Amino acid sequence: MLDKLYLRGFKSFAEPVTVDFSDSRITTIVGPNGSGKSNIVDAIRWVMGEQSPSALRGSRMSDVIFSGTDERQARSEAEVRIVLNNEFGRLDIDEDQVTLSRLVDQEGRSDYYINGEASRLRDFQELLDDTGLNQEPYSVVGQNRVEAILGSSPEKLRGMFEEAAGISRHRRRKEEAERR
Ligand code: ATP
Ligand code: MG
Repeated sequence: MLDKLYLRGFKSFAEPVTVDFSDSRITTIVGPNGSGKSNIVDAIRWVMGEQSPSALRGSRMSDVIFSGTDERQARSEAEVRIVLNNEFGRLDIDEDQVTLSRLVDQEGRSDYYINGEASRLRDFQELLDDTGLNQEPYSVVGQNRVEAILGSSPEKLRGMFEEAAGISRHRRRKEEAERR
């Protein structure tokens, strides 16, 4: 489902890089400690709308912006783009590929784009709802997450299964309707 990832000024990725996942079913990222493996996972989480700086191992949202090294100047913004394969129509957009992008500035303000069109965080959430990519993405299982999932409460586990089964969208709508 994940075809490509593009990073610019995100964490340790000062210069633009594109990672192509499309040729293989399983991609392994290897590298020495501190080389940026977890930063790639953070980027995937972030571009899908993550709002918690601590989930991204920072304290403010602007911490994801490349902060400079001895040789390289700090950046003023960060951008991540993700290209999702939509041949099977899992996303409710009539395109074979869907590009989501997110930019953040030094004030921590984010801009969101779906296939190049300015969008809201809410649009991202709606689009990713029930694809298994949204909400505490268990599709992105980081270090320690496996244990956290196994140790989850029955309610939490139920939520995960509902999301995977594609019914949490309806539940969210129902809850919204009830609040009105
Ligand atoms: P490990 O094998 O130890 O888990 P890793 O490959 O997962 O390592 P990451 O955690 O992805 O490593 O990368 C950590 C590196 O990213 C550190 O060197 C850190 O300084 C750098 N880094 C994180 N945020 C920023 C930032 N905003 N600007 C510049 N560098 C950053
Ligand atoms: Mg790591």
